[in-house]
Amino acid sequence: MAIAIQELTPFQEVNLFLDDSADRLGLSDGLREMLRQPWRELKVQVPVRMDDGRVEVFSGYRIQHNGARGPYKGGVRYHPQADAEEVRALASLMTWKNALVNVPFGGAKGGVQCDPRQLSESELNRLTRRYTLNISHLLAPNRDIPAPDMGTNAQTMAWMMDAYGQIHGHSPAIVTGKPVELGGSLGREAATGRGVAFILQEAATDLSMDMDGIRIVIQGYGNVGSWAAQILHDSGCRIIALSDVAGGIYNPKGLDVSRIAENKIAGIGVSEYLDGEKVTNAELLELECDVLIPAAIDNVINAENASRIKTKLIAEAANHPVTFGADQILNDRGITILPDILVNAGGVTVSYFEWTQNLQEFRWEEERVNDELRKVMSKAYQAVHEKVASQGINYRQAAFDIGVGRVARAVNLRGFV
Ligand code: GLU
Repeated sequence: MAIAIQELTPFQEVNLFLDDSADRLGLSDGLREMLRQPWRELKVQVPVRMDDGRVEVFSGYRIQHNGARGPYKGGVRYHPQADAEEVRALASLMTWKNALVNVPFGGAKGGVQCDPRQLSESELNRLTRRYTLNISHLLAPNRDIPAPDMGTNAQTMAWMMDAYGQIHGHSPAIVTGKPVELGGSLGREAATGRGVAFILQEAATDLSMDMDGIRIVIQGYGNVGSWAAQILHDSGCRIIALSDVAGGIYNPKGLDVSRIAENKIAGIGVSEYLDGEKVTNAELLELECDVLIPAAIDNVINAENASRIKTKLIAEAANHPVTFGADQILNDRGITILPDILVNAGGVTVSYFEWTQNLQEFRWEEERVNDELRKVMSKAYQAVHEKVASQGINYRQAAFDIGVGRVARAVNLRGFV
């Protein structure tokens, strides 16, 4: 059973969560199928002139999963594993996430299957421009709005905006997560990590956990993991282990997170921090702690290691870090899981604020961004928690029921079925 589950693709796994929700909501077969399949998929060739003169050809995707609630919205991932099935899964998760936090967007995701760490700055610039041109007929501020994801950042969005603008004229609302100097929102870079901290604070209160000194393990030190670590550390939590792709560091007394952040700026990896014990990424996930935050890639907690996880609470800062099989094992073991579509929704929420600022040609103060983010996240959390308490289902089931229910309602109201 466990082996069969592990063989499922990420998209099939996400659809198992969807089916579970569709059963509880009593959705018809036709409607379920509409919610399962992406509405539109585009695969493009992305040829890039490399610095040494060769041409390398990458595969690029933009998958628009569901547009019932508004323009398609979701990030673009540059990663060796970003194939069609992974991008489909991520696009589907965006649909449910955007509905759960009630931003007026459908769900989409893009990807280029490449290893961005092996590419120079100018190769990445050329790759991004070619990818943008090849998917540009799908994009528009009221059609589909990309954003950063793994392997992409504000600079990538600046190149995308520029490439799109060369055809369509200056269009800042075409992408979010841009540099602030080019119309990006204050607070966008920290937003996903800040949202993780907001959700954790709310959940800790409901689970009678004291945040002061709480022992937290974070896997991943990219945009999400690093901001979450800093914000949680500053609010009194004890970050006892952290990792990046090269490995991790563990100190039960707590890590000096600001020091690790300074190291990162200086190009020094997390595991080079001296005041702690070196651990591998696999060992880090199995450390004893109060809260485990996977903030890197998908499928890291799976049927193989789920029985060895020693935490009370998992907050999914990454997308789909816990497989369907592991989800069942962890639920049976009484470990609470706060799902990705709730925990990491802070990024797309501030993307929504950025998009509205661009459309209005107006700029918000950072304080306003953070206040509004807290309101949106808190409302979503409360709705999920209320369902958990009243229906005896888990947090993921409650979050999916709200997201899927909203999308199903929008589909029905539009009169598609
Ligand atoms: N890539 C982020 C996510 O997975 C943000 C998407 C966005 O801002 O559109 O939620």
